[in-house]
Amino acid sequence: MRPLPIRALIVEDEAPARLSLREYLSDVLWVAVVGEASDGVEALRLIAALEPDLVFLDVRLPEVSGLEVARRMRQSPAIVFTTAYDRYAIAAFELGAIDYLVKPFGRERFATTLARVRTRLSPSVSDGERARATLEPGPLQRLFARQGDRIVPIAAASIVRIQAQGDYAEVHAGPGTFLIHVSLAELAGRLDPHAFLQVHRSHIVNLAAVAHIEPHDERRLAIRLRDGSVVVASRAASEALRRQAR
Ligand code: CA
Repeated sequence: MRPLPIRALIVEDEAPARLSLREYLSDVLWVAVVGEASDGVEALRLIAALEPDLVFLDVRLPEVSGLEVARRMRQSPAIVFTTAYDRYAIAAFELGAIDYLVKPFGRERFATTLARVRTRLSPSVSDGERARATLEPGPLQRLFARQGDRIVPIAAASIVRIQAQGDYAEVHAGPGTFLIHVSLAELAGRLDPHAFLQVHRSHIVNLAAVAHIEPHDERRLAIRLRDGSVVVASRAASEALRRQAR
């Protein structure tokens, strides 16, 4: 059994945010705050020295960012990222964060986080299961989109198509349409290349969601998707599709 309480480190460069985290945690008997760091270098030093079970890690930090801290540390404490920006959500979850708190967050939202922490750090969950839940090598199995103050998962398999919208990607999936602050190129590089094809500068389609393909003009193909939308593939992508269909 893991001896209680869970030892937590707070990494946060803004004093008011540090204070409110400490205050929220002061009521939680099964969590003991063992240290505080206000920049990434200090965070790495304290994680190595104190070996905390849990780190509340601010994404935006001076010197070394929170995401960089998570990549560089040699220990593997549970991580809850905190940030005022949501554009880091995908990277944060790839790094195996238990949760992702968008600042400012209230006590109620924080309670949800603590429930997740408790589940993840519970001794009844085997190390193997935990590792599988944390490390997901290979292509993205899911994306995360912000809905109000919540982050919702979108299974990659449920995606029909993804359209570039400036710096954002508009993800059309079974459960609905979501706007994610990530570029189409970045997504194209992380999705399973056997399942997804970038058919145009501004469009990625899930090949499993294709209803049919027909000629659009001499060189290009039109792809009709199961949500009824039609995307005209670029010449190069049309070539690739023709090769695959052969
Ligand atoms: Ca910060």
